[in-house]
Amino acid sequence: MITVLSGGVGAARLIRSLNLVMDPRDITAVVNVGDDVLLHGLTICPDLDTISYTLAGLNNDELGWGLAGETWRVMQELRHLGGAAWFALGDRDLATHLYRTQRINEGATKTEVTRELCEHWGVLTRLLPVTNDTIATTFDTEIGPLGFQEYFVQHHHDVVVHAITVQGAKTSTPTHEVRSALEASSRIIIAPSNPLISIDPILQVGDVRELLASRRDDVVAVSPIINGAALKGPADRLMRELGHSATSVGVADFYQGLAGTLVIDEADRELAAQIESRGMKVHVTTTVMANPDHARRLAQVVLA
Ligand code: GDP
Ligand code: CA
Repeated sequence: MITVLSGGVGAARLIRSLNLVMDPRDITAVVNVGDDVLLHGLTICPDLDTISYTLAGLNNDELGWGLAGETWRVMQELRHLGGAAWFALGDRDLATHLYRTQRINEGATKTEVTRELCEHWGVLTRLLPVTNDTIATTFDTEIGPLGFQEYFVQHHHDVVVHAITVQGAKTSTPTHEVRSALEASSRIIIAPSNPLISIDPILQVGDVRELLASRRDDVVAVSPIINGAALKGPADRLMRELGHSATSVGVADFYQGLAGTLVIDEADRELAAQIESRGMKVHVTTTVMANPDHARRLAQVVLA
Protein backbone atom coordinates (compact mmCIF):
# COMPACT_ATOMS: atom_id res chain seq x y z
CA MET A 1 0.00 0.00 0.00
CA ILE A 2 1.13 3.52 -0.80
CA THR A 3 -0.19 6.84 0.45
CA VAL A 4 -0.42 10.11 -1.48
CA LEU A 5 -0.70 13.45 0.36
CA SER A 6 -3.13 15.29 -1.85
CA GLY A 7 -4.57 18.67 -2.73
CA GLY A 8 -6.85 18.94 -5.77
CA VAL A 9 -5.89 19.03 -9.43
CA GLY A 10 -2.16 18.21 -9.19
CA ALA A 11 -2.93 15.29 -6.88
CA ALA A 12 -5.84 14.03 -8.97
CA ARG A 13 -3.54 13.87 -12.00
CA LEU A 14 -0.82 12.03 -10.10
CA ILE A 15 -3.22 9.49 -8.61
CA ARG A 16 -4.78 8.92 -12.04
CA SER A 17 -1.25 8.31 -13.33
CA LEU A 18 -0.50 5.86 -10.51
CA ASN A 19 -3.74 4.04 -11.35
CA LEU A 20 -2.21 3.27 -14.77
CA VAL A 21 0.68 1.30 -13.29
CA MET A 22 -0.65 -0.29 -10.09
CA ASP A 23 -3.79 -1.66 -8.48
CA PRO A 24 -5.89 1.43 -7.53
CA ARG A 25 -7.00 -0.42 -4.38
CA ASP A 26 -3.42 -0.28 -3.09
CA ILE A 27 -3.44 3.52 -3.13
CA THR A 28 -4.67 5.69 -0.27
CA ALA A 29 -4.99 9.44 -0.73
CA VAL A 30 -4.82 11.62 2.38
CA VAL A 31 -6.67 14.72 1.23
CA ASN A 32 -6.61 18.37 2.29
CA VAL A 33 -9.83 19.71 3.78
CA GLY A 34 -8.56 23.26 4.50
CA ASP A 35 -10.42 24.51 1.37
CA ASP A 36 -13.72 23.09 2.57
CA VAL A 37 -16.47 25.64 2.78
CA LEU A 38 -19.99 25.91 4.13
CA LEU A 39 -22.11 27.69 1.50
CA HIS A 40 -25.90 27.85 1.36
CA GLY A 41 -25.76 25.51 4.37
CA LEU A 42 -23.95 22.88 2.25
CA THR A 43 -20.66 21.22 3.16
CA ILE A 44 -18.43 21.51 0.07
CA CYS A 45 -15.09 19.67 -0.11
CA PRO A 46 -13.37 20.89 -3.30
CA ASP A 47 -10.21 18.78 -3.11
CA LEU A 48 -12.02 15.52 -2.28
CA ASP A 49 -14.48 16.21 -5.11
CA THR A 50 -11.77 17.08 -7.64
CA ILE A 51 -10.01 13.78 -6.95
CA SER A 52 -13.08 11.56 -6.91
CA TYR A 53 -14.55 13.18 -10.04
CA THR A 54 -11.21 12.78 -11.85
CA LEU A 55 -10.72 9.16 -10.82
CA ALA A 56 -14.31 8.36 -11.80
CA GLY A 57 -13.69 9.94 -15.22
CA LEU A 58 -16.47 12.45 -14.53
CA ASN A 59 -14.31 15.58 -14.34
CA ASN A 60 -14.90 18.65 -16.48
CA ASP A 61 -11.71 19.12 -18.52
CA GLU A 62 -12.72 22.45 -20.07
CA LEU A 63 -13.33 24.11 -16.71
CA GLY A 64 -10.61 22.22 -14.82
CA TRP A 65 -13.07 21.65 -11.92
CA GLY A 66 -16.53 20.22 -11.42
CA LEU A 67 -18.39 17.62 -13.45
CA ALA A 68 -18.50 17.03 -17.19
CA GLY A 69 -21.78 17.75 -19.00
CA GLU A 70 -22.75 20.20 -16.30
CA THR A 71 -25.75 22.57 -16.48
CA TRP A 72 -26.21 25.76 -14.42
CA ARG A 73 -29.95 26.33 -14.02
CA VAL A 74 -29.87 26.63 -10.23
CA MET A 75 -27.06 29.21 -10.35
CA GLN A 76 -28.91 31.22 -13.02
CA GLU A 77 -32.02 31.38 -10.87
CA LEU A 78 -29.98 32.22 -7.79
CA ARG A 79 -28.27 35.06 -9.68
CA HIS A 80 -31.65 36.42 -10.77
CA LEU A 81 -32.74 36.38 -7.15
CA GLY A 82 -29.62 38.35 -6.19
CA GLY A 83 -28.27 35.43 -4.15
CA ALA A 84 -24.61 34.55 -3.55
CA ALA A 85 -23.70 33.08 -6.94
CA TRP A 86 -19.97 33.89 -7.04
CA PHE A 87 -19.04 30.31 -6.18
CA ALA A 88 -20.39 28.37 -9.15
CA LEU A 89 -22.09 25.11 -8.26
CA GLY A 90 -23.39 23.11 -11.20
CA ASP A 91 -26.71 21.31 -11.07
CA ARG A 92 -25.11 17.84 -11.00
CA ASP A 93 -22.37 18.95 -8.62
CA LEU A 94 -25.02 20.27 -6.21
CA ALA A 95 -26.32 16.71 -5.76
CA THR A 96 -22.91 15.74 -4.30
CA HIS A 97 -23.03 18.58 -1.77
CA LEU A 98 -26.68 17.94 -0.91
CA TYR A 99 -25.93 14.25 -0.32
CA ARG A 100 -22.83 14.97 1.78
CA THR A 101 -24.68 17.54 3.86
CA GLN A 102 -27.63 15.20 4.41
CA ARG A 103 -25.34 12.42 5.59
CA ILE A 104 -23.36 14.74 7.88
CA ASN A 105 -26.64 15.98 9.39
CA GLU A 106 -27.55 12.32 9.97
CA GLY A 107 -24.32 11.92 11.95
CA ALA A 108 -21.94 10.49 9.33
CA THR A 109 -18.32 11.68 9.22
CA LYS A 110 -16.61 13.15 6.15
CA THR A 111 -14.59 9.92 6.01
CA GLU A 112 -17.77 7.84 5.80
CA VAL A 113 -19.49 10.09 3.24
CA THR A 114 -16.36 10.10 1.07
CA ARG A 115 -16.34 6.30 1.11
CA GLU A 116 -20.02 6.18 0.14
CA LEU A 117 -19.55 8.63 -2.74
CA CYS A 118 -16.49 6.77 -4.03
CA GLU A 119 -18.33 3.45 -3.88
CA HIS A 120 -21.19 4.99 -5.85
CA TRP A 121 -18.85 6.27 -8.57
CA GLY A 122 -16.72 3.12 -8.71
CA VAL A 123 -13.58 4.87 -7.42
CA LEU A 124 -11.35 2.08 -6.12
CA THR A 125 -8.58 4.24 -4.65
CA ARG A 126 -9.27 4.99 -1.00
CA LEU A 127 -9.77 8.73 -0.37
CA LEU A 128 -9.39 9.88 3.22
CA PRO A 129 -10.00 13.43 4.44
CA VAL A 130 -6.97 14.11 6.66
CA THR A 131 -9.25 14.95 9.58
CA ASN A 132 -12.94 14.93 10.45
CA ASP A 133 -12.40 18.05 12.54
CA THR A 134 -13.16 21.40 10.93
CA ILE A 135 -10.08 23.24 9.70
CA ALA A 136 -10.10 26.32 7.46
CA THR A 137 -7.22 27.88 5.54
CA THR A 138 -7.45 31.68 5.71
CA PHE A 139 -5.42 34.53 4.25
CA ASP A 140 -4.16 37.78 5.69
CA THR A 141 -4.01 39.96 2.55
CA GLU A 142 -3.42 43.53 1.42
CA ILE A 143 -7.21 44.03 1.43
CA GLY A 144 -7.75 42.36 4.82
CA PRO A 145 -8.56 38.84 6.00
CA LEU A 146 -10.10 36.46 3.45
CA GLY A 147 -11.53 32.95 3.65
CA PHE A 148 -10.15 30.35 1.25
CA GLN A 149 -12.77 30.59 -1.47
CA GLU A 150 -12.99 34.38 -1.10
CA TYR A 151 -9.28 34.55 -1.89
CA PHE A 152 -9.27 31.88 -4.55
CA VAL A 153 -12.54 32.35 -6.40
CA GLN A 154 -13.93 35.79 -5.51
CA HIS A 155 -10.55 37.54 -5.81
CA HIS A 156 -9.04 35.11 -8.37
CA HIS A 157 -5.97 34.72 -6.06
CA ASP A 158 -4.90 38.14 -7.34
CA VAL A 159 -4.25 39.98 -4.06
CA VAL A 160 -0.99 40.13 -2.10
CA VAL A 161 -0.90 37.60 0.76
CA HIS A 162 1.01 38.45 3.97
CA ALA A 163 0.24 35.26 5.90
CA ILE A 164 -1.69 32.00 5.70
CA THR A 165 -3.33 30.49 8.78
CA VAL A 166 -5.01 27.11 9.04
CA GLN A 167 -7.74 27.79 11.60
CA GLY A 168 -8.46 24.86 13.89
CA ALA A 169 -5.38 22.87 12.83
CA LYS A 170 -3.67 22.94 16.24
CA THR A 171 -6.56 21.23 18.01
CA SER A 172 -7.43 18.88 15.12
CA THR A 173 -6.35 15.26 14.89
CA PRO A 174 -5.82 13.01 11.88
CA THR A 175 -8.36 10.17 11.62
CA HIS A 176 -7.16 6.75 12.74
CA GLU A 177 -7.39 5.59 9.10
CA VAL A 178 -4.98 8.38 8.13
CA ARG A 179 -2.61 7.55 10.97
CA SER A 180 -2.53 3.85 10.03
CA ALA A 181 -1.98 4.68 6.35
CA LEU A 182 0.97 6.94 7.18
CA GLU A 183 2.44 4.32 9.50
CA ALA A 184 1.91 1.25 7.29
CA SER A 185 2.53 2.47 3.73
CA SER A 186 5.65 1.20 2.01
CA ARG A 187 5.91 4.59 0.31
CA ILE A 188 4.42 8.03 0.91
CA ILE A 189 4.18 10.42 -2.01
CA ILE A 190 3.66 14.16 -1.70
CA ALA A 191 1.65 15.04 -4.82
CA PRO A 192 2.64 18.01 -7.01
CA SER A 193 0.03 20.07 -5.17
CA ASN A 194 0.40 23.61 -3.90
CA PRO A 195 2.87 23.26 -0.97
CA LEU A 196 1.45 26.21 0.99
CA ILE A 197 -2.30 25.78 0.65
CA SER A 198 -2.77 22.11 -0.25
CA ILE A 199 0.01 20.19 1.53
CA ASP A 200 0.83 22.43 4.50
CA PRO A 201 -2.75 22.34 5.88
CA ILE A 202 -2.42 18.52 5.93
CA LEU A 203 0.94 18.75 7.73
CA GLN A 204 -0.54 21.11 10.33
CA VAL A 205 -3.20 18.61 11.44
CA GLY A 206 -2.22 17.13 14.81
CA ASP A 207 1.08 15.25 14.58
CA VAL A 208 0.98 14.55 10.82
CA ARG A 209 4.23 16.49 10.30
CA GLU A 210 6.04 14.39 12.93
CA LEU A 211 4.57 11.17 11.52
CA LEU A 212 5.82 12.10 8.07
CA ALA A 213 9.27 13.09 9.35
CA SER A 214 9.59 9.66 10.97
CA ARG A 215 9.01 8.13 7.50
CA ARG A 216 11.34 10.54 5.66
CA ASP A 217 13.36 7.85 3.83
CA ASP A 218 10.14 6.49 2.29
CA VAL A 219 8.71 9.90 1.35
CA VAL A 220 8.95 11.09 -2.27
CA ALA A 221 7.70 14.55 -3.24
CA VAL A 222 6.93 15.70 -6.79
CA SER A 223 7.62 19.39 -7.43
CA PRO A 224 4.59 21.41 -8.61
CA ILE A 225 6.96 24.19 -9.66
CA ILE A 226 8.57 23.81 -13.07
CA ASN A 227 11.03 26.36 -14.40
CA GLY A 228 10.03 28.83 -11.67
CA ALA A 229 6.31 28.64 -12.36
CA ALA A 230 3.23 26.67 -11.33
CA LEU A 231 1.36 25.01 -14.17
CA LYS A 232 -1.84 26.45 -12.76
CA GLY A 233 -2.88 28.48 -9.72
CA PRO A 234 -0.97 30.72 -7.30
CA ALA A 235 1.74 28.34 -5.96
CA ASP A 236 4.67 30.33 -7.42
CA ARG A 237 3.25 33.70 -6.47
CA LEU A 238 2.43 32.60 -2.90
CA MET A 239 5.90 31.07 -2.48
CA ARG A 240 7.47 34.43 -3.42
CA GLU A 241 5.08 36.51 -1.33
CA LEU A 242 5.75 34.39 1.74
CA GLY A 243 9.53 34.48 1.41
CA HIS A 244 10.26 31.15 -0.27
CA SER A 245 12.08 30.71 -3.54
CA ALA A 246 9.52 29.93 -6.29
CA THR A 247 11.67 27.13 -7.71
CA SER A 248 12.15 23.42 -7.19
CA VAL A 249 14.88 24.40 -4.71
CA GLY A 250 12.25 26.35 -2.74
CA VAL A 251 10.03 23.25 -2.80
CA ALA A 252 12.98 21.15 -1.57
CA ASP A 253 13.56 23.59 1.32
CA PHE A 254 9.85 23.50 2.16
CA TYR A 255 9.91 19.68 2.40
CA GLN A 256 13.30 19.56 4.15
CA GLY A 257 13.23 16.91 6.88
CA LEU A 258 9.99 15.43 5.52
CA ALA A 259 10.82 14.05 2.07
CA GLY A 260 13.95 12.02 1.36
CA THR A 261 13.53 12.37 -2.40
CA LEU A 262 12.31 15.13 -4.70
CA VAL A 263 11.21 14.50 -8.29
CA ILE A 264 11.84 17.54 -10.48
CA ASP A 265 11.21 18.31 -14.13
CA GLU A 266 13.77 18.05 -16.95
CA ALA A 267 13.47 21.85 -17.23
CA ASP A 268 15.01 22.14 -13.74
CA ARG A 269 17.85 19.67 -14.28
CA GLU A 270 20.49 22.28 -13.41
CA LEU A 271 18.93 22.69 -9.93
CA ALA A 272 19.54 19.03 -9.03
CA ALA A 273 22.96 19.60 -7.46
CA GLN A 274 21.66 22.40 -5.22
CA ILE A 275 18.86 20.15 -3.99
CA GLU A 276 21.23 17.23 -3.40
CA SER A 277 23.49 19.52 -1.37
CA ARG A 278 20.57 19.84 1.05
CA GLY A 279 20.72 16.10 1.72
CA MET A 280 17.80 15.20 -0.53
CA LYS A 281 17.90 12.64 -3.35
CA VAL A 282 16.76 13.98 -6.72
CA HIS A 283 15.12 12.31 -9.69
CA VAL A 284 14.83 14.24 -12.96
CA THR A 285 12.04 13.30 -15.37
CA THR A 286 9.17 14.84 -17.32
CA THR A 287 6.74 15.79 -14.56
CA VAL A 288 4.01 17.39 -16.71
CA MET A 289 1.29 14.74 -16.94
CA ALA A 290 0.12 16.03 -20.31
CA ASN A 291 -0.33 12.62 -21.98
CA PRO A 292 -0.66 9.01 -20.79
CA ASP A 293 2.96 8.16 -21.69
CA HIS A 294 4.38 10.96 -19.55
CA ALA A 295 1.86 10.22 -16.81
CA ARG A 296 2.88 6.55 -16.71
CA ARG A 297 6.58 7.40 -16.66
CA LEU A 298 6.17 9.82 -13.75
CA ALA A 299 4.16 7.18 -11.85
CA GLN A 300 6.94 4.63 -12.41
CA VAL A 301 9.57 7.09 -11.19
CA VAL A 302 7.77 7.89 -7.93
CA LEU A 303 7.29 4.17 -7.27
CA ALA A 304 10.84 3.12 -8.23
P1 GDP B 1 -5.90 22.57 -6.34
O1 GDP B 1 -6.19 22.21 -4.91
O2 GDP B 1 -6.96 22.10 -7.30
O3 GDP B 1 -5.48 24.00 -6.53
O4 GDP B 1 -4.70 21.72 -6.77
P2 GDP B 1 -3.34 21.22 -6.18
O5 GDP B 1 -2.84 22.03 -5.06
O6 GDP B 1 -3.41 19.74 -6.02
O7 GDP B 1 -2.50 21.44 -7.46
C1 GDP B 1 -2.08 22.71 -7.94
C2 GDP B 1 -0.66 22.53 -8.39
O8 GDP B 1 -0.60 21.42 -9.27
C3 GDP B 1 -0.12 23.70 -9.17
O9 GDP B 1 0.92 24.27 -8.40
C4 GDP B 1 0.42 23.06 -10.47
O10 GDP B 1 1.69 23.55 -10.82
C5 GDP B 1 0.49 21.59 -10.13
N1 GDP B 1 0.25 20.70 -11.25
C6 GDP B 1 -0.88 20.55 -11.97
N2 GDP B 1 -0.70 19.64 -12.96
C7 GDP B 1 0.59 19.20 -12.84
C8 GDP B 1 1.39 18.25 -13.58
O11 GDP B 1 0.96 17.63 -14.57
N3 GDP B 1 2.69 18.09 -13.14
C9 GDP B 1 3.20 18.77 -12.08
N4 GDP B 1 4.48 18.56 -11.73
N5 GDP B 1 2.48 19.67 -11.39
C10 GDP B 1 1.20 19.87 -11.76
CA1 CA C 1 -7.59 22.88 -3.33
